[in-house]
Amino acid sequence: MYPRIICHKEKLRENAIRLQTHLEKRGITLFAVTKVFGADPNIIRILDDAGVHHFADARLLNLSHIEKIQGERMLLRIPMLSELEDVLRYADLSLQSELKTLRALNELCVERGKQHKVLLMIDLGDLREGIFSNDELKEVASELALMQGVQWVGLGTNLTCYGGVLPTRESLERLIQLRDFLEEDYKVDLPIISAGNSSSLYLVDEDWPKELNQLRVGEALANGTESSFGKNFIGLHEDVFTIEAQIVELKEKPSVPIGTRGKNAFGKEPVFEDYGIQKRAIIALGMQDTDPEDLVPILEGAKILGASSDHMIVDITHVRDALDVGSILAFRTNYRSVLRAYTSAYVYREIE
Ligand SMILES: *Cc1c(COP(=O)(O)O)cnc(C)c1O
Repeated sequence: MYPRIICHKEKLRENAIRLQTHLEKRGITLFAVTKVFGADPNIIRILDDAGVHHFADARLLNLSHIEKIQGERMLLRIPMLSELEDVLRYADLSLQSELKTLRALNELCVERGKQHKVLLMIDLGDLREGIFSNDELKEVASELALMQGVQWVGLGTNLTCYGGVLPTRESLERLIQLRDFLEEDYKVDLPIISAGNSSSLYLVDEDWPKELNQLRVGEALANGTESSFGKNFIGLHEDVFTIEAQIVELKEKPSVPIGTRGKNAFGKEPVFEDYGIQKRAIIALGMQDTDPEDLVPILEGAKILGASSDHMIVDITHVRDALDVGSILAFRTNYRSVLRAYTSAYVYREIE
């Protein structure tokens, strides 16, 4: 069935083993971030079998699909006050940055007789989530340290997500200093420092400070790249996922539309260059299924011209292979196109 996204099992398995071994050697616990593949249970099983046992996701619906694992489940997005029941149900630990939410979660823990671990997020300048001012940190810490329901186990940070601020050794060492100060002043034990996402990977080397002992990694595992510079990381496979779709129309047409032009389906006024008559294939794949700008045709000579919600137009004028209605076109992916494909209800999931 098409369109489909294929997860190449052996490549994913190798990525998991290589990354896990690399981080383990430096005393870092890996949390595999599952949002990019919608926490697909079959993919979770491949990772779990490969020795990656801790999983993290931004959505509780995704976490609810993760069952029978040996490790822990972490909620990545600061929870909504309306979903705290499910936080306790589907997550063993969560990232937090609001006192109001922590108070409510703590109350719920006490009421239910449940334990839940939290990492307090610190904003080191990227300006997405996290405590920013020292005054707020002190206010939150003094209450959090005394909470009986939620268990404060450490600090976390997130970089390069909104502001594109790169992690540096100095910024991460600030987290260690903050931790030491908090342990001392508030008489708490904060054994975990969660040093970020795939953007911190480029700093992981032989003298990585042992205090930074947790990383939450999605992109490197799924796409083989670290996210600070988009470079390959330790030889991980970049082609774990491919997307395939079927040709539904194949005709020769001019490259420039004919008639009076207004805006296209997405409110833009596109500009066209005249390449004469082109051989154009329409495939049954659109913006609703993936991001066409984040796909690369595997077939030599093929070029994506554009897409609307459900149709993608591919120029195949310079393709040597014989194509016809019904032929399948395959595409290389990146983080965004994989994320979209696993979010679309119209894309079939395969493991090969
Ligand atoms: C998505 C996410 C990650 C994983 O990021 P990658 O760049 O895919 O490794 C880590 N932490 C948080 C809070 C996230 O939202």
